[in-house]
Amino acid sequence: MHSASGQQKVLIIDDTLANIEILHRILQEEYEVYFAKAGADGIRIAKRELPDLILLDIMMPGMDGYQVCTILKADPETENIPVIFITAMGSDEDETKGLDCGAIDYLTKPISPPIVKSRVRNHLELKRSRDVMRALTLELAEKNRELEVLAREDGLTGLANRRHLDQVLDAEVKRAVRSGQELSLIMCDIDFFKKYNDRYGHLAGDKCLQAVGRLLRGSFRRAGDLAARYGGEEFVVVLPDTAVAQAERLAERLRLEVINLGLEHDCSGTGVVTMSMGVVGGVLSRELSPEWMIGEADRALYGSKEKGRNVVTVVGW
Ligand code: GH3
Ligand code: MG
Ligand code: MG
Repeated sequence: MHSASGQQKVLIIDDTLANIEILHRILQEEYEVYFAKAGADGIRIAKRELPDLILLDIMMPGMDGYQVCTILKADPETENIPVIFITAMGSDEDETKGLDCGAIDYLTKPISPPIVKSRVRNHLELKRSRDVMRALTLELAEKNRELEVLAREDGLTGLANRRHLDQVLDAEVKRAVRSGQELSLIMCDIDFFKKYNDRYGHLAGDKCLQAVGRLLRGSFRRAGDLAARYGGEEFVVVLPDTAVAQAERLAERLRLEVINLGLEHDCSGTGVVTMSMGVVGGVLSRELSPEWMIGEADRALYGSKEKGRNVVTVVGW
């Protein structure tokens, strides 16, 4: 977390004022420096300022540096702040103990200004690149989520696209074979849509597709139902755990809802936009594939077109 001036922040926690003064003098030009004379105060300031680096004395009355470091590292808010111990104690054992409780480095007293300066600079540069990486990673994850949605979605209608339909249908067929539950499918096609485009223009055609898309999205809301744009003016609805007779009722309801949209179509016979539908469904035996199911639904849809359009045709098995 940088200060308003863009400078990185360093927090010094040391009970000896003389040490604070020396460190402050070394660092004040390049960084925004905070200090605390006791562990508890230091932790409070760390949480408030979220410094980029903490220089921490070990031997302090009350809470010692190890305790302070352990507390900082256990708190998700402060765990990523690098801690450097500064102390007169210089044995391997002390150093190991400090590194074990999460410190990144260790400086021994007496303080050598050039060493402090360059170590602090190195750690702050590392901190800066880690922060950038972290921000980029978050951004990337967010973009990936957006892309995942886009990759499943049809741009014009917002319904699932063909790719997503293929994945879902494949999974639902496998599930239905396993569970023995019925799986149904409705394939829909707008009637005389070429004429609609010719008569009202391609833009109006797009609006019509969007209106039908909204209707489909609103009509099939049960968990597991999936409405997709199959291509052009054709749509498919996947209805898991649904008997074919029930799917037929839903298709019939949808047929009426499309009429009720009241979209003028004066070359359609009925005067409004209508949709023909093919419904298939039943219990799936192992050898039936998604392609076969789509093929059967297409055949049923073709039957509806043959009958003069604006009807629902059912094929059970
Ligand atoms: P039928 O009643 O037999 O279904 O006849 P139809 O005219 O609806 O069917 P056909 O397959 O002959 O024509 C489909 C039309 O859909 C042709 C094509 O230009 C149009 N179409 C496909 N995709 C889009 C789209 O994204 N926007 C618009 N406006 N039109 C589209
Ligand atoms: Mg059509
Ligand atoms: Mg078509």
